[in-house]
Amino acid sequence: MSLLLGIDLGTTNSLVGVMDSGFPILLADAEGSRLTPSAVHFASDGTVTVGAAALRRRALDPARTVTSVKRLIGRRAGEGDWQPPYALAALGTSPVQVSAEILRHLRGIAERAMEQEITRAVITVPAYFNDAQRAATKKAGELAGLQVERILSEPTAAALAYGLDKLGEHRKVAVYDLGGGTFDISVLELRDGVFQVLSTAGDTQLGGDDLDRALAEHLAPAGADPARFLEAAEAAKKRLSETESTRIELPFYDGTHSFAAEVTRVELEKLARPLLDRTRSHCLRALADAGLQAADLDEVILVGGSTRMPLVRQTVAEIFGREPNLSQHPDEAVALGAVIQAGILDGSLRNVLLLDVTPLSLGIETFGGLMNVIIPRNTTIPCKAGEMFTNAVANQSEMLVRVLQGERELARDNWELGRLVVPFPAGPKGSARVGVQFRIDADGILEVLARDTASGVDTVLEIRNTAVDVEDERVEAMISASVEHAFEDMNERVWTEARLKAEELLGAVAAALIQFGEAVTAEERAGIEAAALAVRAVLDGPEHDARALKAANQILDDATQELAVRLVEQAMEESLARRGLV
Ligand code: ADP
Ligand code: MG
Repeated sequence: MSLLLGIDLGTTNSLVGVMDSGFPILLADAEGSRLTPSAVHFASDGTVTVGAAALRRRALDPARTVTSVKRLIGRRAGEGDWQPPYALAALGTSPVQVSAEILRHLRGIAERAMEQEITRAVITVPAYFNDAQRAATKKAGELAGLQVERILSEPTAAALAYGLDKLGEHRKVAVYDLGGGTFDISVLELRDGVFQVLSTAGDTQLGGDDLDRALAEHLAPAGADPARFLEAAEAAKKRLSETESTRIELPFYDGTHSFAAEVTRVELEKLARPLLDRTRSHCLRALADAGLQAADLDEVILVGGSTRMPLVRQTVAEIFGREPNLSQHPDEAVALGAVIQAGILDGSLRNVLLLDVTPLSLGIETFGGLMNVIIPRNTTIPCKAGEMFTNAVANQSEMLVRVLQGERELARDNWELGRLVVPFPAGPKGSARVGVQFRIDADGILEVLARDTASGVDTVLEIRNTAVDVEDERVEAMISASVEHAFEDMNERVWTEARLKAEELLGAVAAALIQFGEAVTAEERAGIEAAALAVRAVLDGPEHDARALKAANQILDDATQELAVRLVEQAMEESLARRGLV
C-alpha cells in the first residue's frame, strides 16, 4: 500500500508530511525548509516554478507570479472580495491548476524524502469551505496524481496535532488561526471521539501580510515606495517575536538611496494592536454562535505563523480569559494533524491506543457486597487478568457476576458496567470452581469471560468503551470519594469480612453444641455460650465496629479450641469403630 501524505495547502504557506515508523513527521525540501510558500511562477517559456523560488521571481515578474490562489479556488470569477494582482486566464491556468502545481511540488518533496512513489493524500481546508471549494481542492489533488482520501478541516487537524482528541467527550476547544492573509476562529466539540465544528467566524482579509504592510509604510521614508520595504518588514516582524529590538538595513533599495534603522517590538505592537483588536469581535461571535461562554472552553489553541507574536498570545489570553496552549508549533499544527489523520486512516496510528490506561479499577462483586479488583486502575491496555471464585452457600446452581468499576471498597458504591450469570452444578459450599477473566483489547473493549471449570462452559460478556473511556470529571469524583471515605470504606470491608467469619463460626458452634454437647463440661459450655453471645452482641450492635467483632471472633475461636480438638478425636474414634478397628 502506498504511503498516505498529510498536506496543509495554505494561503501563504503549504506543508507536507507522512507517518514514518509510527511518528508523524513533516518533510523538508532540498533547501531544508518544511514551509513551502504557496506561490507559483509561470515563465513565458512554459516553465513552472513553485515555492521560495517562485517568490524570488515575483519581484521581477509580478504579473506571472501567482500567490494566495486559495482565495480563488472553487469560486466563480469575480466571486468574493479579493482581486488578485495577476490574471490567471492570461497565464492560461486556473485556481485548480495552480493548486495542483503546489500539490505536485509537495508530492515531489515527499517522494524524494521517502524514496518512493506516493499517490494518496489527506488535504486540509478551512472549516468554512463550501462543497464547491472542497471539490475543487480534491480535483487539484487528482491533477497532481494524488488520490484524496479525506478532506479534513483545518481546525480539526490542528486539534488532532495538539492531542486534544484525548480530552474526552463533550470537551470544547477554540482554534485561533492567524495566518498570512486570513483569520479564522473555530469552536469545536468532541463527540463520539470526533471533532464537530460548532461555529466558525473570521476575516478573509486579515493576517500577517497586513502587519508587513503597516510596518513597511511606517519605515519607508517620505516619497519612497513602501513595497520595496515589504520583505525587510516581514523579516524584522518575525525577529521581533524573539527580540525586543532589531536592525533593518536596505542598501540602495531603490538604486540610489540606502536605509538603516532600529525597530522595536513596542513600535510593531503599536501597529499590530488595531489589527488584533479586530479578531476579538469574531471570537465573541463564534462563541455566541456555539452557544458558549469563554469559560465553557477546555482549551484554546493557536494556529498560523502570526500567532508566534507575543502580542497575539496576550490578546488571545485576554479574549478568552485563559492562557492558550503553546505546546505545538502554530505554523505546523495543521499539517501535523493532517499526517495524524492519514495515520489513523491507514492504520499506522492504531498503536497510539497502547498508551491508554484504565482510568479506574475494574472488578466484580463478591459475597457480602465487597468489591474485588481484577484490573487495578492505571493498568496499561491491552491487558488480561483473572481469578477463581467458588460458591459461598451450598446448593447454589449459578453465580451472578456483577462487573464493577470504581475505587470504593463496597460494591454498591462503585458503578456496575454489566452482569452475567454463570450456571454450574449444585453442590456443597465451596465445591464450584468458576474462573473469571477480564481482558481489555487495544480498542478499549472489555471482555469478561466466566468459566465453570468442571463443565468447561464459558459465559462471555462484552463491554464497549466504558472500561477505558470515562469522563475526567467522573474519574476525579470517584477517586476523591474513595480518598474521602477511605477510613469508613476500609472499616466496612474489614467489618464485612469479620461478619462473614462470625456468621460461619456461630453456625458451626451451635451445630456442634447440639451434636456433641455431652462432650464438654458445664463450665466450658458456659464459656463458649458467653463468647458466642458476645459475638452476636457486636454483630447486632448499632455500629459496624470491625475491630470489636474481630476480637470477639477470636475469643469465640479460642473458647471452642478444646471442643474442636475433641470433635476431631471423637470423629476419629467413630470412624475407627465403624471400621471395627477398636
Ligand atoms: P497560511 O495559513 O495563511 O498559509 P501561515 O500559518 O504559514 O499562513 O502564516 C504565515 C504568516 O505568519 C506570515 O504573515 C508570516 O509573516 C507570519 N509569521 C511566521 N513566523 C512568524 C513569527 N515568528 N512572528 C510573527 N509572524 C510570523
Ligand atoms: Mg494556515
